[in-house]
Amino acid sequence: MITCSIESKFKPILEEILKKESEREYVENLIEVTECTTCLRRSYYNRKSPVTRVNKHVIEGKAIHMYFEQLIKKYEYNIESEEEYIVDFGLPFKIKMRPDIVMDDRVVDIKTTDRETVFMSDIEHELQANFYAFVLDKRYYELIYITRGGNMSVFVSEVNLDMFEEVLKRAELLYNSLKNNVEPSREPKYCKYCEYFHRCYKQKKLL
Ligand code: SF4
Repeated sequence: MITCSIESKFKPILEEILKKESEREYVENLIEVTECTTCLRRSYYNRKSPVTRVNKHVIEGKAIHMYFEQLIKKYEYNIESEEEYIVDFGLPFKIKMRPDIVMDDRVVDIKTTDRETVFMSDIEHELQANFYAFVLDKRYYELIYITRGGNMSVFVSEVNLDMFEEVLKRAELLYNSLKNNVEPSREPKYCKYCEYFHRCYKQKKLL
């Protein structure tokens, strides 16, 4: 590799762009489905004292969605993609959701993964897609995982009321925690990649 001492001209711009992009404005009485389907304490920190979170996974995730959205438009498929919905259940807060794809009988969510093969879908993705499908009155939800090698693993399920209620319950928990400034309980299964580990456990990550 050839290196020289001349400084990058574009890196500071890129850093600034990514910082701006990662800064989100949250509305107090609007809970996002993606906030309720990961560790609630992590979502709490994300709102109360966020750290800039732009990494390879975030960029990959956003890029793939924009790419497919563009391809759907380019080839003129009449499929709804990336529409935002604000849902009012008559609770003190509303819920925001943005399913990837909505079809006549199902909602489809596309995920990228570093795994070579996906034998099982992730529960947080199941909860998300099921919630979207339930609200939009679709019979099925479909999860498509695109692996590192470019293969696709697909999981199709029927909509499930219990899973819908679970997300709603978690949304309420998060809303109340935020309102009362009380950290939600830890959910250690999400800790491995959590950027708030030090804040949460008051110690260095040993994983
Ligand atoms: S370290 Fe674990 S428990 Fe704490 S916020 Fe992150 S994911 Fe949740």
